[in-house]
Amino acid sequence: MRIVDTIDEVRRQVREWRAQGLTVGLVPTMGYLHEGHASLIDASHRDNDRTVVSDFVNPMQFGPTEDLESYPRDIVHDAKLVEEHGGDLIFHPDPSEMYHEGFSSFVDMTVLTEELCGLSRPVHFRGVCTVVTKLFNIVKPDRAYFGKKDAQQLAVIRHMVDDLNMDIEIIGCPIIREDDGLAKSSRNTYLNDAERKAALVLSEAVRLGMDMVRSGEKNCDTILSQMKSLIEAEPLARIDYVKMVDCATMQQIPTLDRPALCAMAVFIGKTRLIDNFFTEDVQEG
Ligand code: AMP
Repeated sequence: MRIVDTIDEVRRQVREWRAQGLTVGLVPTMGYLHEGHASLIDASHRDNDRTVVSDFVNPMQFGPTEDLESYPRDIVHDAKLVEEHGGDLIFHPDPSEMYHEGFSSFVDMTVLTEELCGLSRPVHFRGVCTVVTKLFNIVKPDRAYFGKKDAQQLAVIRHMVDDLNMDIEIIGCPIIREDDGLAKSSRNTYLNDAERKAALVLSEAVRLGMDMVRSGEKNCDTILSQMKSLIEAEPLARIDYVKMVDCATMQQIPTLDRPALCAMAVFIGKTRLIDNFFTEDVQEG
């Protein structure tokens, strides 16, 4: 397993693999890796001959008041995890390697980014689409792996790949959770003991919503209002949004008459956490 920090080194390595006829998977991350990321690396390792993990806290996807500076970083720990899970190369660039002076080209999206995290984080998806496009152009993978934890991001990337004819297969992977249900996230490290307990309201609300869908409830307001009441009962929690959207358009829907995503963002103290479920996964379960 190698760690490289320049675009040239990634390209040289991938060219070598291509010359040997090998397939390449890409797992884009912001580092501080946990078992959620590991599940994506495992999936790539299963499907491809070689796996590249990008480990880059992308400044472009953070708003001015967000946690860019404090975002946790630990490349030594990350390298160990990637190696253990069969990754072959970590791309760990400096922001200056990704965004040279005078950088002025962006990939942006309408419609799918109007709701959910796109509403609360106006510059976020432009940063995500731009960096993921750059990573796709640098690595030129056969497949790229994204977690359903960031469900809107997964939908946005799929849509971008389709709209812009990018020849890459996008694989969505299930949410990995702690034993008590909390979705694993690098940001969970921000939580103190009381907040860590309070954060369970997200997965409890997900469970409640899934149970209601499973029992046949079709009215989105009924489902969402019960989920919101559960979250609001926790004094350390403040809801950013809890919404039901069409899976394809990410626009809100009143009735469960098509595949939907139920997504939430909730502040626990100062930490903003997200969680969700797809109604299609409920039916399958
Ligand atoms: P991040 O480093 O937070 O930008 O995440 C990198 C990738 O890992 C994204 O595709 C996330 O959706 C995915 N990911 C993060 N946490 C989890 C999780 N708990 N389960 C599954 N995938 C995850």
